[in-house]
Amino acid sequence: MIRQYELVERVKAYEPAADEALLNRAYVFSMKAHGLQTRASGDPYFSHPLEVAGILTGLKLDSASIITGLLHDTVEDTLATLEEIEQLFGPDIARLVDGVTKLSQIELQSDQARQAENFRKFLLAMSEDIRVLLVKLADRLHNMRTLSFIPKEEKRRRIASETMDIYAPLAERIGLHSVKDELEDLAFAQLNPDARASVLKRLDYLREKGGDLVPLVIEALRNTMTEGRLRADISGREKRLYSIWRKMQRKNIAFEQLSDIVAFRIVVDTVDDCYRALGIVHAAHPMVPGRFKDYISTPKPNGYRSLHTAVIGPERQRIEIQIRTREMHEEAEYGVAAHWAFKQAAGASDGPQYRWMRELLDILDKASGPEEFLEHTKLEMFRDQVFCFSPKGDLINLPGGATPVDFAYAVHSEVGDSCVGAKINGRMVPLRTQLQNGDQVEIIRSRVPAPSPTWEGFVATGKARASIRRFIRLKERDEFISLGRAIAEKTFREHDEEFSQALVESALPKLKEHAVDDVYANLGKGEMTGHHLGQVLFPARRLESMANRALSLVRKRSGEVRAGDQGVPIRGLTPGLALHMADCCSPLPGDRIVGIVTTGKGITVHTIDCEALADFGDTPERWLDLSWDTAGGVGQAHVGRIEMVVVYETGSLSDVTAAIARNQGNISNLKIATREADFFELLVDVEVQDVRHLTDIIGALRAVNCVSEVRRGRQ
Ligand code: MN
Repeated sequence: MIRQYELVERVKAYEPAADEALLNRAYVFSMKAHGLQTRASGDPYFSHPLEVAGILTGLKLDSASIITGLLHDTVEDTLATLEEIEQLFGPDIARLVDGVTKLSQIELQSDQARQAENFRKFLLAMSEDIRVLLVKLADRLHNMRTLSFIPKEEKRRRIASETMDIYAPLAERIGLHSVKDELEDLAFAQLNPDARASVLKRLDYLREKGGDLVPLVIEALRNTMTEGRLRADISGREKRLYSIWRKMQRKNIAFEQLSDIVAFRIVVDTVDDCYRALGIVHAAHPMVPGRFKDYISTPKPNGYRSLHTAVIGPERQRIEIQIRTREMHEEAEYGVAAHWAFKQAAGASDGPQYRWMRELLDILDKASGPEEFLEHTKLEMFRDQVFCFSPKGDLINLPGGATPVDFAYAVHSEVGDSCVGAKINGRMVPLRTQLQNGDQVEIIRSRVPAPSPTWEGFVATGKARASIRRFIRLKERDEFISLGRAIAEKTFREHDEEFSQALVESALPKLKEHAVDDVYANLGKGEMTGHHLGQVLFPARRLESMANRALSLVRKRSGEVRAGDQGVPIRGLTPGLALHMADCCSPLPGDRIVGIVTTGKGITVHTIDCEALADFGDTPERWLDLSWDTAGGVGQAHVGRIEMVVVYETGSLSDVTAAIARNQGNISNLKIATREADFFELLVDVEVQDVRHLTDIIGALRAVNCVSEVRRGRQ
């Protein structure tokens, strides 16, 4: 455990004016409040807030944050109250402790909706003061470090996946890379120990094979810099297991070179020196084309800056190099925390991190429920980014896969709502076109706002999706209301009465509604019948059967009109409509999908990249934008196909099948397509839950030694 004077000394080292007495008071207060409580590890509970405070000193946060770290569990878990804390430590610290306490309630709930609800408070608190989030992340980091002491497997898993889904991406978003890396690795160890073990094994093998290379490369780079007369620190950093695993899953790469496991780093004094260092490296070693990235002139959305390049180094090995200044390095490791430390006094509130928060708040305003919100947020966090330009030259960054519609909404909600077409680099393109880095995008607008429901099927940003849904909800309601009003008028006519809104209004209590529009909307949606309305308004009379039939005709006809002009998500499909998965591409839940209407057969579902779709290019009216209803279909098995090339040797087939079994894949069919002297090509059909399950299996297969190539199969 860190001692009291040690903690104070650590803070004073970077904040000489820190209030020593207040720090000491917090230390004692927390120790007393937690008293004899213990952790799952058997340690005294107080060790936890103390470690959290220790992590925060590592980020060089101000003393208010350190004190909040010490006190963060007192209100939730002990008899201490917020009033007490305010009295003893002032309103600023009380507010921070309150913020962290609220966030901690997330962990007490498993239900997804409530989690999102709290997540919302969480973000709101965070936007008020970034320190609340930093303390929460330090809290989560220490809990993850001690995760193994929690006895229940199920609870460990839940905490780990929450860390993977919410906290690690948040840490990444605010640029706290050191924390993000550690959170991910700890969660990875819990969630997929087999995968982690296979990466580790492979890593050991590569390390053994090329072990001496790292110091050799560092030495060579150092000599290069000395010859170029540039002062620079050079180091080699092994990549994290989880990031290697992600890379193996994402790209079809062979995990066998030095550049796959070690990144070299050149740290210099100034931005000019960065470019000089780059020139010196490229002059001395041939560069690998296509690998150079300049994140100094165009920083990543989270503010990350560095030059990246790859060259052929000593021993003909390909090596990856990052070049940056010391300040950039601090920022890359500690992100917003570094800013906090550097610019505390300036009250800076305009970095890219803050823009991201504002966007989240914007989504909060528009989302109808917590689930929808969580969905957007997760989407937003996991994609890579593309940079596009407006005609005026403004740089807009968007997630990978974004379309002109996303671009329009990113510029302004009004631009999105009135968007009818787009030009990319001067040429008209369909709105579903995916934007590429560097595209110049011009949005063509109409005078009347009219977002199409079909857009929801292809937009990539939460902001666009939320705005479209909101617009459609309002429009739908308007349609229901006017339809309902027509039904009400008809009801009056059938009773030979003059239509009177006042009469409907007077019947509101009986109808259990608050407003006339609600009555109309219910009528329009069919949740209330005209017959029922008639009975309530004119209790003495009976409805004639002729009129009744006429009424149902009206409803049916309006229903048809509505279905025609809407995009139909799978969840909204007319019940009873035949739906089947195409044999050519075997779509899995999670794949992007499209439906093709076939007369007499219903709808055939294809993946968006299926080659068979080319046959329907001339008949756009048969295409339906579909998306998976994620709530349904879970637990049901689907068949995914894997193609691989395997070394022909003893035991290779059993290695392959064992890897599939370890990942809960059920092999339903297996075929050797071709066989040569040294390799054979294998087709395996596997029953999986969804596309993510399939990618997991494919990732695991990549780690098997005898597998030289593996990819998802299409027929
Ligand atoms: Mn805690």
